[in-house]
Amino acid sequence: QNNCFWNARGPDRPGGRVEMIRVFLGIGTNLGDRERNLQDALAILSQKMVILKESSIYQTAPWGYLDQPAFLNQVIEAQTDLSPLNLLGFLKDTEKVLGRQANFRYGPRLIDLDILFYGNRIIQTPRLQIPHPRIAQRAFVLVPLAEIAPDFVHPQTKQTIAQLLAALPDLGEVQKCG
Ligand code: AMP
Repeated sequence: QNNCFWNARGPDRPGGRVEMIRVFLGIGTNLGDRERNLQDALAILSQKMVILKESSIYQTAPWGYLDQPAFLNQVIEAQTDLSPLNLLGFLKDTEKVLGRQANFRYGPRLIDLDILFYGNRIIQTPRLQIPHPRIAQRAFVLVPLAEIAPDFVHPQTKQTIAQLLAALPDLGEVQKCG
């Protein structure tokens, strides 16, 4: 019920109608001009998708590897006709365009773009897992997500975002900016 069908041609379905999928993406940055990085990411993303909602920006203490600057995090809701793998490729390309260098896991990064949800799809491959596997543990994802989509139902746990957030034992240091 969240997806719309459009009579248009598109890259993924050249001959037929294009299915527009509702996706949620997570954006994080903790290097350089962090606000600018978020703005630049949104500008590039909007070239290939319709951005429907943007959460506020949240500042978050680092996670995993603690000796690094605080992150800014944001979640967006968008509609796209890109397939899951093409969307992942587009996000990885966007990270490169914005200047992200390879780094160690959970280390500092100029920009990090994650697919949180792709409609109600469940995808489990080595390259891509959707829903993003760590949503339920991450306050920096659930807090902005709950701001824009509290009633969205996680297709695996069947809980709403608001319920997942309420179940988090610790909200950590996630502060709304501005
Ligand atoms: P990261 O270090 O967060 O940029 O993620 C590294 C890798 O995670 C990517 O190259 C993807 O192949 C993989 N990955 C698996 N599932 C996802 C997802 N839902 N969103 C983004 N990346 C994913």
